Amino acid sequence: MKLLKERIRKDGIVKEGNVLKVDQFLNHQMDIELLNEIGKEFKRRFAQKQIDKILTIEASGIGIACITAQYFHVPVVFAKKSQSVNLDGESYVTKIESFTHKRIYDVIVSKKYLKEGEHVLIIDDFMANGCAVNGLLDILEEAGAIVEGVGIVIEKGFQDGGKSIRERGIQLESLAIVDAMNPAEGSLTFRETE
Ligand code: 5GP
Repeated sequence: MKLLKERIRKDGIVKEGNVLKVDQFLNHQMDIELLNEIGKEFKRRFAQKQIDKILTIEASGIGIACITAQYFHVPVVFAKKSQSVNLDGESYVTKIESFTHKRIYDVIVSKKYLKEGEHVLIIDDFMANGCAVNGLLDILEEAGAIVEGVGIVIEKGFQDGGKSIRERGIQLESLAIVDAMNPAEGSLTFRETE
């Protein structure tokens, strides 16, 4: 997605540790006009799919998922991160290692909001090693929901998450794929996808 790549080049900051900061427009301050274009693009890429619900994870995925959901006319459910989970049987629970905070969280979704046979699209801001998306896929499997695809705003193609999701035969649509980042120069290289 050309507009997104231009914005990453203009306002993204390449940090040490394979971290790309995009908090000028995506996950701290949010450019809603850009998010609208992102939502439209996800709709275009998953236009053939039946989507009943969008699943994301707090916090950065929520805004993107909400704007995207307006194009699909479906509700959004976000998985909640929690320090300690009360295993009462009323929630799906999994563990996710946070790439940015290097911590393991319990992540929960209430069984009330995810049902067997529902067609679900996963949306998130970044794909790095794939822990967040794999955790959401575990929850969908436990629920007996149908995974229609995964939409990611920025995939870091030099990390393994995207590859592992595609190898599982899941439709993964990343709107910008960064294949290399150089923090010393502040430069990055995009994969030519369109
Ligand atoms: P993964 O679980 O695929 O290793 O990492 C994805 C999650 O970590 C995303 O939900 C995102 O919030 C965060 N993340 C991973 N890499 C980056 C990055 O380069 N920049 C930012 N801002 N967040 C990242």
